[in-house]
Amino acid sequence: MARTGFYPGSFDPVTYGHLDIIARATRLVDKLVLGVGVHHGKQSLLPAKTRIALLERVTRPIAEHTGVKILVATFDGLAVDAARRHHAGIMIRGLRDSTDFDYEVQMGQMNGAMAPDIETVFLAASPATRMIASSLVKQIARMGGDISLFIPREAQEVMAAALAKPSH
Ligand code: ADP
Repeated sequence: MARTGFYPGSFDPVTYGHLDIIARATRLVDKLVLGVGVHHGKQSLLPAKTRIALLERVTRPIAEHTGVKILVATFDGLAVDAARRHHAGIMIRGLRDSTDFDYEVQMGQMNGAMAPDIETVFLAASPATRMIASSLVKQIARMGGDISLFIPREAQEVMAAALAKPSH
């Protein structure tokens, strides 16, 4: 039976940290759905449409290389509901440090209580990318720093355009 994984996040913007988790998650599933959270009241720098297009673009080589189907979709409610809608039996989350660990394990357990049919799988961040956080990438970019070490070229271009807008 084909296994589907659901990897939820803000991806605002997608980073090399996310891509590391995505590439490694393809070893566990036949199909991977990337859930772009679009929750009310949660302000994002990049509109959902842009985050989706970007994710589709930067994950295409991973899908081609591994043969795993990668689908990008938005969700605005509970991650477990979105995972169920996509018939995913596995929820993928990344763990960078002990802060992630405490939060992610608690959330995984609460999700497990609500949806015992979905197993959360935690992937420890790789050493080269474990320090990367989208929130810090945004701060660095706003201050004119070099973010090329943290996010792919396509994402840098989108970030530059978003920050050039008068509202930012
Ligand atoms: P949010 O923090 O808003 O949930 P993110 O898109 O930043 O959304 O994170 C989604 C998932 O990706 C989380 O499980 C997070 O721990 C993981 N993640 C983010 N950055 C990294 C990274 N550099 N390495 C490994 N996992 C990461």
